[in-house]
Amino acid sequence: MTAFVLATANADKAREIAEILGETVELVGRPAEVPEVEETGETLLDNARLKARALVAATGRAAIADDTGLEVAALGGAPGVHSARWAGAGASYADNVTKLLEALGGEKGTEARRARFRTVAVAAWPGGEELVAEGAVNGWITEVPAGRGGFGYDPVFVPEEGDGRTFAELAAEDPAAKHRLSHRGRAMRALAGALQD
Ligand code: IMP
Repeated sequence: MTAFVLATANADKAREIAEILGETVELVGRPAEVPEVEETGETLLDNARLKARALVAATGRAAIADDTGLEVAALGGAPGVHSARWAGAGASYADNVTKLLEALGGEKGTEARRARFRTVAVAAWPGGEELVAEGAVNGWITEVPAGRGGFGYDPVFVPEEGDGRTFAELAAEDPAAKHRLSHRGRAMRALAGALQD
């Protein structure tokens, strides 16, 4: 099967994608000299496609990209496509989590704090062909962060199909425990399945 350049410049996402895909898809690291791709799209699909296409153009090889958003019901679906820099340009994971907990300050109980992660994964080839797959996980936002695994909003997200622990707690014990339920796990496994068809 073709080897794919992994288009993400985010080391946490790259590690997770490699863990999830394992032996099912051969990945090649992102060349360090390729500048970070600006995520100017209005949807997760736009941005995943932008990143995959940019790496295809830069390397002449097939590429895989993903774009992820956290959609919080009480915030009208925000931060969504703006999840990475929600607290401003250069925002850290902790800045974004703080902004989220403040924005939800008045919402009490898991029902009022419902959220989902959604990932769109794109495989793109130099000839212009592409495959798209999606994955999502429903859950809620906790009132205080818990756990040291994972990254991003993981310390405040509890998947509803889990045991009540946050993704950061699950991942701290075993990264695969997050991937089994996660948006990225689902999207990447669906993409790998489509690539095998
Ligand atoms: P990106 O646009 O796909 O690079 O990701 C947007 C942002 O969403 C990241 O910077 C993280 O803050 C957050 N994010 C993406 N994936 C995850 C995840 O699996 N867990 C927690 N936060 C995530």
